Amino acid sequence: MGSFFPLFFKPPQRWGCSEILMILRDDVLAWIRAYGVAIAEHKDYLTRLDADIGDGDHGSNMDRGFQAVQAKLPDVADKDIGAIFKTVGMTLVSTVGGASGPLYGTFFLQLGSAASGKLELSLADWAVALKAGVDGVIMRGKASPGDKTMLDTLVPALEALQQAAARDAALPDALGASARAARQGMEATIPLVARKGRASYLGERSAGHQDPGATSAHLLIQAAAQVWGDPGHHA
Ligand code: ADP
Ligand code: MG
Repeated sequence: MGSFFPLFFKPPQRWGCSEILMILRDDVLAWIRAYGVAIAEHKDYLTRLDADIGDGDHGSNMDRGFQAVQAKLPDVADKDIGAIFKTVGMTLVSTVGGASGPLYGTFFLQLGSAASGKLELSLADWAVALKAGVDGVIMRGKASPGDKTMLDTLVPALEALQQAAARDAALPDALGASARAARQGMEATIPLVARKGRASYLGERSAGHQDPGATSAHLLIQAAAQVWGDPGHHA
């Protein structure tokens, strides 16, 4: 007996299976909204972390940026994923002060270039886009893993995602692996001495504190795993 569906009818990919194969435009919008909510919820925590080794503004910087992003999203909700990411990036560059604005702005602008014209992303597409975003942060901030920055979260998250994509893992598994690597990377910033950004002015005294940017980056990768990796989210 052949397939349940006649040959000319291709069922939508998500019908009858819990496995999500593609990240759709609405999923991208949901991720950005979920991240904005996570930032608002963790605003005081991020600011406390930044007060320990910086100037105590990371939570308010990010929250200001993502409130502006939320306000812009309805204007671009019918555009392609690349255009949505570019709008996020431009909004962050223009509304977030400090180091993190240009860095997160560049991250999203690069995601936008990688996803230009696309209405959905496969796991492989997402791995390519995330690599472009991370490379953008490296180019812009000239930091490396181990310098106690957001890259200590983003680089392991990218590597775990690339490894999962290479072994053809299911999307939720790949996103979960990426989020776990992000968390480990974030926690690994605690003993590090900062070599980039404001925290580097403290020298050895920056050790013993979790980096605020690594923490906001973990929330970003975690939100992707939660929003895109949960089959129930699309029900
Ligand atoms: P500022 O340090 O200007 O007050 P924020 O407090 O908003 O900006 O952001 C601080 C975070 O930015 C740091 O915790 C670190 O993760 C990140 N950061 C700073 N400089 C760099 C850099 N050169 N490359 C990557 N990330 C950086
Ligand atoms: Mg700061």
